[in-house]
Amino acid sequence: MTETLDRRVRTYGGLGVAAAVLLLLWGHGGSPDSREFADPRPHTGVVYDDLYLEHRTTPGFPEHPRRVGAIVTRLRASGVMRHLLRVNPAPGPVEWITRIHSPAYVQRVRTAAESLGEGFAELDSPEVSISAKSYDVAVGAVAGVLGMVDDVMAGRVRNGFCAVRPPGHHALADRAMGFCIFNNVAIAARYLLEKHGLSRVLIVDWDVHHGNGTQAAFERDARVMYFSTHRSPWYPGTGGEDERGLGNILNVPLPTGSGDEAMRKAFEERLKPAARTFKPEFVLISAGFDAHRDDVLGGMNVTTGGYAKLTEIVKAIADVSCAGRLVSVLEGGYNLNALSRSVEAHVRVLMGD
Ligand SMILES: [Zn+2]
Repeated sequence: MTETLDRRVRTYGGLGVAAAVLLLLWGHGGSPDSREFADPRPHTGVVYDDLYLEHRTTPGFPEHPRRVGAIVTRLRASGVMRHLLRVNPAPGPVEWITRIHSPAYVQRVRTAAESLGEGFAELDSPEVSISAKSYDVAVGAVAGVLGMVDDVMAGRVRNGFCAVRPPGHHALADRAMGFCIFNNVAIAARYLLEKHGLSRVLIVDWDVHHGNGTQAAFERDARVMYFSTHRSPWYPGTGGEDERGLGNILNVPLPTGSGDEAMRKAFEERLKPAARTFKPEFVLISAGFDAHRDDVLGGMNVTTGGYAKLTEIVKAIADVSCAGRLVSVLEGGYNLNALSRSVEAHVRVLMGD
């Protein structure tokens, strides 16, 4: 079986091999899933995989496998999961990882992880803990996000959420930082520009920390607009309003303790007008949920309902500008209850609930 067919069969597993072959011959115009007949709404996709649990970090480390476990459990228990179309990873992610990260860095991550047995090591700083499978998982996270991008571009899903880890927005071209190894969202943006031929991609980053890695990747590339709200002063120390790139970087630093209203205002008054001018062809969200008031690392006051509101605003931008094409990618969020409830609220809005 060819790799493409194998992937397609897995994607449409419920339809069986014969139907998958038929779909292959038919091309992308066909119905993506039999459930579509029962549910006329365009589907929201979800990416998750047990592989993402295998990036183990030092005991007590805030970024750990149970984060994704809690999200998946919550989506299942609430009944949301059965309305989502599970999307499979794209093949060949390493080729795209090296469009953002240096090949030497990618190799260094691989060697560092694969030389570990049962233990842990630091990668570049004490903020990045790795274990033997960390390279495979970080590559798998990128593959998941690129798979979702492909499925949104092909119209198989309208939008989607990627419950991936490790997170990405601090990762620099040749350095791991802040729990991040490969910059999932930056790689997705480059993939949209180079593989899918788009000209304008908007990245919205509402993680409580500034996405220094994403900003660094695009501060000299006006095809990508990067908008970030973040606590300031706070880790990693970047993200001042004066950091404008080519005019395509829009940072909104917020004081400690800011909540729903400050975030809503930033999105309504800063993001919306900028997006109206930029006219994105695709919207990516660096969806960190660590500005939640129950998060131990954030020091902010955003509520679960606040994340739903932000999602509404960004979804409306995508609806007006690019037929709703939007992919949201997990970044931070360290209180399992707040994280899983916020993701559920976020995904419900993506679904149109
Ligand atoms: Zn964060």
